[in-house]
Amino acid sequence: MLNQIGVTGAVEMNVATSVVAGLAALAGAGSAHAYFIGSDDTSKIYEEVLDLDPLTGLLSKEGLERKLAKIVQADPPETSGFERWLLISLEIDALRDINEIHGAEIGDSVLRVIAQRVRRLVGDLGPVSRIAGSEYAFAVKFKRDDRELHAVMNAIIDEVARPVSIDSATVAVFCTAGVTQIVSQTIEINKLLRQTKLARANAKAGGLGNWATYHPEMTQSDRYRKWIETELVQAIRDNDFDLVYQSQVYSDTGKIAGYESLLRWKHPTKGIIPPIEFIAVAEQCGLINQIGNWVIRRVCEDAHFFDPDVKIAVNVSPKQLDNPEFVDTLASILKTYDIKPKRIEIEITENVLIGDPNRVRKQFERIRGLGCSIAIDDFGTGYSNLSTLSELSFCKLKLDRSFLARYEDRNNSGPLISTVVNLARALDVQILAEGVETKDQIAMLNAAGCTLMQGFAFGKPFTLNRDEVSEEAAA
Ligand code: C2E
Ligand code: CA
Ligand code: CA
Repeated sequence: MLNQIGVTGAVEMNVATSVVAGLAALAGAGSAHAYFIGSDDTSKIYEEVLDLDPLTGLLSKEGLERKLAKIVQADPPETSGFERWLLISLEIDALRDINEIHGAEIGDSVLRVIAQRVRRLVGDLGPVSRIAGSEYAFAVKFKRDDRELHAVMNAIIDEVARPVSIDSATVAVFCTAGVTQIVSQTIEINKLLRQTKLARANAKAGGLGNWATYHPEMTQSDRYRKWIETELVQAIRDNDFDLVYQSQVYSDTGKIAGYESLLRWKHPTKGIIPPIEFIAVAEQCGLINQIGNWVIRRVCEDAHFFDPDVKIAVNVSPKQLDNPEFVDTLASILKTYDIKPKRIEIEITENVLIGDPNRVRKQFERIRGLGCSIAIDDFGTGYSNLSTLSELSFCKLKLDRSFLARYEDRNNSGPLISTVVNLARALDVQILAEGVETKDQIAMLNAAGCTLMQGFAFGKPFTLNRDEVSEEAAA
């Protein structure tokens, strides 16, 4: 195949071999495992076939996900330690041009050559796949040293982006790469790939042939924002949202105090996109009002699944509160679904206080006037002006998860939490600790007088089985 398209195997091999040697040395080949396709039990041949990309013989996206799941099961990613698993995706630019100018067959041949290059580069250090079109991805365990990553990434980009000779023509290849760290033992391939894609988009802003590592702030990059905005419009049209619920519990009695609704976006091709990645964009482009109203309607539709004595919390963005029609819309939705307002708690993050305090106070009063309660969310993240806070009419302070994490290891965590508990008492409001994950945290919070809690220790957000319950209800 290589000879057929005019690439001499020897040249490919020599250059690649030297980079592999470099990569292997840098990544600590002594600990390398065999991740070649086909090294698995032959009884799984059928699954393996499905896991392969027929054009290049590399793994498919599904194959990569399965392989990575096995790898991290055997060798769990650590958040500390000397090594880390990285997922790297490469995008070959100008493929459309190659197809247009030279025809799809040559385009396919180029894809195969790139596949061989990547495969040889990575060797047996990790699984290699073609995700779609001209996007490739592989995972390698790297030392936790950025110099190593820089050296390897530059070598990979230089190698992959060498021109490909086809018959008498030479095709220029450009390659951009994105890197993300695999931190969880549960492989969510779409999420990881989205992170590398975001990193690539940022790398591209600096010109072709660059690479970048994903960091969460990238969710705000212009390019990604635009993509989210366009996709959100379709998501609203196609009703691609869902709500999950997380319980709020009294740790001393185990009694459920309420449930918080949390929004999920089920993107048709990208999988679940978490709210942290799109709420800010929805706020900026104004779509938050439509999405927020959808959430309120959905909560009202779901309310009959829950005990009528527990509250259901709805997250409302400060931007929604800016909308003068917000409270009227809330009232009209509650009326349409015949939901008692006291069943609904509106959660608003404490940075609502950055806005015009008079306006915020009036809106709070109108919401309370309707009969809904209000919780101040993410308390402790730093924006609160206590005098303004004390003028507002609300019922609950939700202590942010980061507050807990920040103080849990310190000897003075108890007194600090106690201070906040006392503040809540002085304001005559409830206090709930968010993101409670461990027994130690539960004990520390109880000792400090905060018994209302929410977090993985009590239950992860769950999906309602709407079909099953409605069948039961119908029976
Ligand atoms: P939030 O309101 O502070 O919600 C709590 C977040 O913490 C949720 O993330 C939840 O899944 C997560 N969480 C709960 N317990 C634990 C724990 O023990 N450990 C850890 N590590 N995390 C925990 P999620 O669902 O990804 O939501 C993120 C943020 O997105 C929410 O933070 C909220 O600000 C926003 N959001 C979610 N749904 C909506 C919505 O319907 N409307 C608006 N405007 N914002 C929403
Ligand atoms: Ca919340
Ligand atoms: Ca929060």
